[in-house]
Amino acid sequence: MVIPVFLPHSGCNERCVYCHQGYITDSGGADIKARIDGALRDRREACEVGLFGGNIFGMEPADLERLFSFFAPYKDVVKGFRLSTKPVPLRDDAIDILKRNGVRMIELGIPTFNDAILAALNRAHTAKDLFRAFDRLLGEGFRLALQFMVGLPGETMVDIEETVENMVRLRPEYIRIYPLVILRNTPLYRLHETGGFTPIAFDEALERAALIYRRALEEGIDVVNVGLTDNELVREMVAGGFYHPAFGSLVQSRIFRDALGSVLGEIEGPKEVTVVLHRNDIPLLVGYRRENLKHFASLGIALRWEPSGAERGRFEVVSGGERVTGRMIQRR
Ligand code: SF4
Repeated sequence: MVIPVFLPHSGCNERCVYCHQGYITDSGGADIKARIDGALRDRREACEVGLFGGNIFGMEPADLERLFSFFAPYKDVVKGFRLSTKPVPLRDDAIDILKRNGVRMIELGIPTFNDAILAALNRAHTAKDLFRAFDRLLGEGFRLALQFMVGLPGETMVDIEETVENMVRLRPEYIRIYPLVILRNTPLYRLHETGGFTPIAFDEALERAALIYRRALEEGIDVVNVGLTDNELVREMVAGGFYHPAFGSLVQSRIFRDALGSVLGEIEGPKEVTVVLHRNDIPLLVGYRRENLKHFASLGIALRWEPSGAERGRFEVVSGGERVTGRMIQRR
């Protein structure tokens, strides 16, 4: 089990234009030690701690040592750490501290591999910095994951394809995908308010996230999270972009819709179709607010479904005398 401890903006020497960790982590302003004590005081079973919401590599070594010292009273239950960070600055002393303190997994944030967009986001690093950090940290024995974004200012499908290409080449253990959200009191919000940024359509952002998600699973790379954590503060502060409390489910049902669409393409003029599938996949077939049913209805196809003992992600389409099997994800 991973116990998250949020470190809002710790080590963030520059502020990414879209970020306001105070909203995203809903951390309530308590100091870090109090938050650690609150999360671990009553814990009896072994756990891993996830340090999220800042840039660990940007912390001064003394501050990093101090942070880990707060966990000393809990060494019987805390069996290791994972953390998220920007890929810079890559310092030997910081890497050494992480190794000595039992950090095993590092999630590197790389919203896009397009350097011009990274600069506009005020990330203060390039794609090359990510490649350098990935190689070095892998060589140091860390396990690695990547965090991507979709719907960024100036982003095109070419950028998403580049993200996918690099993901496949680097082969992180897992990824997270965050659709861009415009939060109040951020530089991005001001840019949006003054007409300097118009987000793409929601459906387009969904398509982009679905493309990365599908390719990750096809390549055997886990996707552990899609979308921002839903909390009241986030909802209150959202001024635009692609926030949806069920963004991950929307992405999955889009992938299911596409997979079903390609199977239906193999059938001669389907009008009434029964999809036989695992019962837990029925919501993916139906879609949020029945969107997939409406989509196929607009093509003149009425969908029915029948739960079966099929494995998850696998389905069979029955139409007239024809039966064709399909998969949500085709593993390579
Ligand atoms: S590095 Fe992460 S926490 Fe820091 S400003 Fe950027 S997105 Fe926010």
